[in-house]
Amino acid sequence: MPTPDAADAAGAPPRHVLVLGGTTEARRLAAALAPDPSLRVTTSLAGRVATPRLPVGEVRIGGFGGPEGLARWLREHAVDALIDATHPFADTISRNAARAAATAHVPLLALRRPGWVPGPDDTWHQVTSLDEAAAALPALGTRVFLTTGRMGLAHFAHLTDLWFLVRSVDPPEPPHPPRMEVLLDRGPFTLDGERALLRTHRIDALVTKDSGAAATAPKLTAAREAGVPVVIVRRPPVPKGVPEAADPAEAVTWLRRLFSDRAGAAG
Ligand code: NAP
Repeated sequence: MPTPDAADAAGAPPRHVLVLGGTTEARRLAAALAPDPSLRVTTSLAGRVATPRLPVGEVRIGGFGGPEGLARWLREHAVDALIDATHPFADTISRNAARAAATAHVPLLALRRPGWVPGPDDTWHQVTSLDEAAAALPALGTRVFLTTGRMGLAHFAHLTDLWFLVRSVDPPEPPHPPRMEVLLDRGPFTLDGERALLRTHRIDALVTKDSGAAATAPKLTAAREAGVPVVIVRRPPVPKGVPEAADPAEAVTWLRRLFSDRAGAAG
């Protein structure tokens, strides 16, 4: 947003934008907005990861205390716009954001990268939950590459006959499957690296959420090439009535329109 609007020329305080983050898109958005002197951007992180990748600009860390706490935060910090740029599977905070924005009368946008789409050579089993993914697995393979994150491992803990390669950013805690190897790593991942993982661990099934990120998509290509079936967990819907942007540039356009409309209305 390169051009300050009329309100800034008159010496008005910057508009406060709260970005709910924890994703690459949130960091890109914060970087895109940072040079604009008419904006103050705060990114909020949940505090789940021990050493998070930090965005530029102001950062706050930790939960708000439900939708009421978030609504209070929006009012107390005079937030002019809220952008929910959390992960497509961070469902609770997205629902909280919708409720809090309505309560505090703050415009809300959901920034969601598009989901993955299967090609003709993919073998995908689409499910709606981790429990459904676990139920599908025994019929598909015995050596499973599990990339759904360390938080959901309890859903697979009863699968004692299967062996799991679990990839996560931080070490998982029990309950988890008894037969597993943990690979601590975070994207982006390369196609060659993913091919090698499937081969060396003799993987015959892959489980993933439909995160939709380019950084983690090579595993799907590697699975397709190796004929490995993929169990893919569909994402929860964006809360009803919340407008969506597919990338940070679209979110910037939304903000620019919002603030120029308001400047027009005020003038
Ligand atoms: P969640 O289940 O939707 O949220 C649980 C609680 O965590 C929320 O009620 C909220 O606590 C707090 N919270 C979540 N995101 C927050 C944020 N950006 N700022 C402040 N508080 C936040 O969330 P989750 O799935 O555990 O994800 C946590 C964070 O990790 C998100 O920021 C998300 O973008 C990121 N992440 C998630 C995934 C995933 O697969 N779920 C993957 C990569 C990154 P209060 O109710 O106390 O406010």
